[in-house]
Amino acid sequence: MIEFDNTTFIYDNKPLMQHFSCCIERGEKVVLYGPSGHGKSTLLASIAGFVLPDEGTIRIDGKTLDPTTIQQTRKQMAWLPQEFTLPFDTVEELIDAPFNLRANQAAKPSVGTILEQFERLGLEPELYRKRTIEISGGQRQRIMLMIAALLRKKIVLLDEPTSALDPHAINLVVDYIRELSEATVVMVSHDQRFIEAFDRKIYIGD
Ligand code: ADP
Ligand code: MG
Repeated sequence: MIEFDNTTFIYDNKPLMQHFSCCIERGEKVVLYGPSGHGKSTLLASIAGFVLPDEGTIRIDGKTLDPTTIQQTRKQMAWLPQEFTLPFDTVEELIDAPFNLRANQAAKPSVGTILEQFERLGLEPELYRKRTIEISGGQRQRIMLMIAALLRKKIVLLDEPTSALDPHAINLVVDYIRELSEATVVMVSHDQRFIEAFDRKIYIGD
């Protein structure tokens, strides 16, 4: 369970999401939506403990997130930020790398498993042998989503993971995420398909 209890974030003396409270149940699939610049990405980053609220508290399974608990709590999460650079030369290395980290206990998926996931996400099998500079933004988004899913974390945080996708690919992603039945998924998206298909939408704005 993820609980926001009266949280406020302050950047440059300006409060953001003032006195925000909400409770996300285990296994729930939640969409955060609303105008840009109102704190959606901040909210996701705060669940992963990369931003601490200036007021109020965030609790994960009853445990308050603070600098002493963040490292441990974060191990239960996969966080896919809105923007990032890929520090790997090939798609194969990109997919392999997180499974070599000690914090991630999921077994490294076989090539067969990866290609099965590719198919579910509408990705060509040839992509697996490509260099990361050769793949499109939409392919990259789906590969990153697949990695987040295969890590089998309890909490999956997705920041606009389909912004570069066409409607057909978005439908595949909707089904893909819904099938992560055990995971709590908190996702930023403006796409109506997610808003309809998920358990709950939360508006972040004025
Ligand atoms: P959204 O994802 O809803 O577009 P963000 O959470 O990215 O919103 O940002 C909300 C506001 O907080 C924006 O005005 C942004 O400029 C500001 N902000 C976000 N991160 C920082 C930061 N690290 N330092 C200063 N201001 C920030
Ligand atoms: Mg954002």
